Amino acid sequence: MRYISTRGLAPELNFEEAMLSGLARDGGLYLPKFIPVLEKKVIQGLVGKSYEEIAFKVIEPFVNDTFSETELRAAIEDSYSQFRHKSRAPLKKMDENYFLLELYHGPTLAFKDFAMQLIGQLFRVSLERSNKSITIIGATSGDTGSAAIEAFKGQKSVNVFIFFPRGRISKIQQLQMSTAKDSNVHAISIDGDFDDCQKVVKDLFTDLDFRDKVNLSGVNSINWARIMAQIVYYFSSYLSLDWPEKKVNFTVPTGNFGDVFAGFMAKKMGLPVSQLFIATNQNDILHNALKTGHYIRKEVNPSISPSMDIQVSSNFERALYYALHGNTKIIQDVFKQFNETGNFTIPEMALEKLQAEYTSGRVSEAETSEIMKKILRRNKLAVCPHTAVGLKVAESNVGDDVMISLATAHPGKFLNAYEDATGEKPDLPEILTDLLNKEERITELKTDLDAIRKFIIERI
Ligand SMILES: *Cc1c(COP(=O)(O)O)cnc(C)c1O
Repeated sequence: MRYISTRGLAPELNFEEAMLSGLARDGGLYLPKFIPVLEKKVIQGLVGKSYEEIAFKVIEPFVNDTFSETELRAAIEDSYSQFRHKSRAPLKKMDENYFLLELYHGPTLAFKDFAMQLIGQLFRVSLERSNKSITIIGATSGDTGSAAIEAFKGQKSVNVFIFFPRGRISKIQQLQMSTAKDSNVHAISIDGDFDDCQKVVKDLFTDLDFRDKVNLSGVNSINWARIMAQIVYYFSSYLSLDWPEKKVNFTVPTGNFGDVFAGFMAKKMGLPVSQLFIATNQNDILHNALKTGHYIRKEVNPSISPSMDIQVSSNFERALYYALHGNTKIIQDVFKQFNETGNFTIPEMALEKLQAEYTSGRVSEAETSEIMKKILRRNKLAVCPHTAVGLKVAESNVGDDVMISLATAHPGKFLNAYEDATGEKPDLPEILTDLLNKEERITELKTDLDAIRKFIIERI
């Protein structure tokens, strides 16, 4: 498989190169040159198969020019062996035609582990083969950073620098990043919001001298490999229903648009998805953009679902690329305008396509708390605030099609929000209680690129 940039100006790459580079050199995002389709009978043939087997079938066409079957199977096995649930992504019945997909049984208790564990393994195989070392940078609203540190800690050819917005992530999220002892991982708190952190990452990537000097790589969902790994649980959840005559809808609590975009790819690969529902919190750039056609950057407004406190949704660029039938010139123009002015208008034809594909809903803080409480009383289920945002949108859209709503993190990661909403404490898995008495190691930096570059160079 060859990979092309959404902006059309960066060189075409193979999978391994696209994975190792993260952001394309023209500022765009990599996408596969074509989308492999799994025939209906191939999909049905996967009913009853393990998560690992489904993952192999879904991922193999994207990577087969750079990883052998043996390498890929081993990477998949190693990635999910530490998950605490044998089906990896169990589906829980909420009501008639209504299901919750639990994606928080990985080592850092959020769905980010599904992709991060796998790319950790694939990076390791690749760097061992080439004998090279790499510098990974990433911005996090909490969960990406902890998943990345967990996946890469102790790897000798990799140094990891994670930027997070100071004071705007949960205590547990911070501890998961700051208590890793390994000297190759660095948690850096930035005085700003998530978008400032994401901008640091993008600016470092577009500084091509620095990029080449430190052999820069990124593991945010700008990295295609992340999206690819997430396509799998859309398939596995559909397959575990074993309802071939039904179509499914998915509701996805959304921030950077990576997760829901993986759902879009699953559909393009042949999964019978009817609608994709995007659920946003009060940071509703996506909801507004889909409603009005105007993509307008606003200030981030901190919420009780901090992993979705994002206004610049990177992966929206990928969705736009398909909605524009691959017109890279328009993508270049709109993102140039966005960088200069903080807004752009989605071309009308593309907006119609996006509206046909995605339906969005915005959920307020009060509604989020209310639904957490309601789900606990009615379904005896503890859900995190992000999951609650999804459930609020899902509930009003359950119909003849099956609705699967994604549970993106364990409630124990967001203790305060959970207690405030429900008046109760969630059960904490042991790995979380262990964190509470560990020593923290955090570097505080400003959004000053020179200082950040210096910090990185001194430590690699
Ligand atoms: C990252 C995250 C999201 C948002 O996912 P995107 O891919 O950025 O849209 C939602 N919920 C939780 C718990 C997350 O960690």
